[in-house]
Order: sequence, then structure tokens, then C-alpha cells
Amino acid sequence: MTLHNCLLISVLILTTGCSYAQDPEIKPAIDWSEKLTEEQFRILRQCGTEPPFTGAFWDHHEDGVYCCAGCGQGLFDSRDKYDSGSGWPSFFEVLAEKAILTRTDYKLGYPRTELLCSACDGHLGHVFGDGPPPTGLRYCINSASLKFLLRDSEQVITRLLDGEN
Ligand SMILES: [Zn+2]
Repeated sequence: MTLHNCLLISVLILTTGCSYAQDPEIKPAIDWSEKLTEEQFRILRQCGTEPPFTGAFWDHHEDGVYCCAGCGQGLFDSRDKYDSGSGWPSFFEVLAEKAILTRTDYKLGYPRTELLCSACDGHLGHVFGDGPPPTGLRYCINSASLKFLLRDSEQVITRLLDGEN
């Protein structure tokens, strides 16, 4: 093992942050009301929706990765974000298929595809079939379900490496 690899592993150990939430053994023990703001709790844990044009990220244009506000798992890349005009952060692709779970939601009386974080089951938003090329999909996400990390931050490097396993 080279010195460089030693240093890299040390950095990874120091920056794994929220990854404990991905351990199914301790998932039920998390007290989300302690960990999240009231708004985040209402949306992530009670399947709420924030009003359009009010969240932190619908008009946000920095370069980086959007992670789950509950557990920190990487979900969307800013390169896949676009202005849908809906007032919610919109993406045409997910960072990795395995980061997102879907289920059918009939809350409005017709079926919609709900999106959940695969690591903590937090509610993110919905996906619709009226997005731009190349996918034709519109991942419509609540800002309160997301936290943003600049692309060159150590946490992003860690999460992207984790995603390759
Ligand atoms: Zn999560």
C-alpha cells in the first residue's frame, strides 16, 4: 500500500459522515424528529410537499451533488438539473439507479410514481414522463429532502467512491 493510498483511506474514514444511516441494523433506532428540521420531517418522513418556488434549490445553479437531507446518500448531479418551470428542483436523471426506490402513490386520486431514498426510505418527490431528452423523465424533488455538496468537497469524493462498490 502506498503512502498515497494510506492517506486516502484516512480521509475516507474521517469523512464518512452520515453513512451510518445506511446500516439496516440501526435504521429503526434513528429518531428523525431529533435529526431533521420540522419542515424536513414533514416532507421526508410524512410524505409532505413544499409549496412551489419556496425551497432552497428550485433556482439553485451551483456545481455539485444533491444528497438526501436525512442520511446523506448522493441522489442527483447538478449536471442533470434543469429548469422545469414547476418551482421544484427538477432533474432528468438520478445519480445512480440504486439510490432511489419507487412506489405508486394515489394521494391525488390518480397514480403517481413516488420517489424514496433507498438508504433511509425518506420521501423525495415524484417522477413524471414529461422531462427533456435524453431520458424524457422529470424527477420533481422537494428542496427540503435535499442537501447540496460542492463537487470538489471531500464528502462528495467519499460518496462517489462508495457508489462504485
Ligand atoms: Zn436518505
